[in-house]
Amino acid sequence: MPPRIVLTSIGPDDRELTVTGRNLRYLRDVLRLAPGEEVTVLDGRGLALKTVVRRAGRKHLVLDVMGICSLETESPLRLVLIQGLLKGDKMDLVIQKTTELGINEIFPVVTGRSQVRFSRKLDHWRRVAEEATRQSGRLSVPEVHDVCRLEDVFGCIGDGALKVLFHEGEEKGLDLPVQVKCPVAYYMVGPEGGFTADEVQQAEAEGFVTGGLGRRILRAETASIAGAAILQFVFGDLAPTASALSTGSTAGRRSEAAG
Ligand code: SAH
Repeated sequence: MPPRIVLTSIGPDDRELTVTGRNLRYLRDVLRLAPGEEVTVLDGRGLALKTVVRRAGRKHLVLDVMGICSLETESPLRLVLIQGLLKGDKMDLVIQKTTELGINEIFPVVTGRSQVRFSRKLDHWRRVAEEATRQSGRLSVPEVHDVCRLEDVFGCIGDGALKVLFHEGEEKGLDLPVQVKCPVAYYMVGPEGGFTADEVQQAEAEGFVTGGLGRRILRAETASIAGAAILQFVFGDLAPTASALSTGSTAGRRSEAAG
């Protein structure tokens, strides 16, 4: 795969692109690209242009656009994480790893037990998302929303989405309606101290089902990453292909159980 950069201002009809700043340093100084070498340029919203380096100068690098490329790296599942704010740089980890796993939106929320109640790191988090998008070959950069409250998020969830609240006390495990075709899934993971009973009730009233990730207590960041992988497996593009289904693999058995 050629190296990838994100330039949000590109359009499908661009013929040449000028690269400056951080992207210039990456292509010229880190990768040391020479004229003729290929670069994929993403707009972060689904467009990818195939380009080649024309020249690399001191102040900028010029790319010739060869055409639009089709990278199929986006999952059919639209996956949204509602994450209780975490301390230190744990949000970075969650954003980076869930981006690799195909998350589409992240809502950092202040909850009753949040030890962090605001953040000046939004720009940094958005850069982490952009960097992970580029690195993982995705086309769309996940949206990292402003820090908000649970009620704000509940207010903007449309009908028909699957809604799961991961809860460490959940004895019944993770009982997902696997036979349901689910193009949109929201999942909630608490801060270090977990959700309060009130918050769980409030989410249930909004149609969230509670789900467990085993009997062990996971760190919040582990739960967020595991949650993304599980939901992509069941509803998104980590699911088995048709050929795997006929081989009697675990995936095949899972599908039989669902049918
Ligand atoms: N307060 C808890 C830990 C909370 S863990 C305690 O110390 O006992 C932080 C978040 O991770 C939880 O709110 C939940 O969303 C998620 N989580 C951790 N372990 C989990 C598990 N076994 N099943 C489901 N969710 C879990």
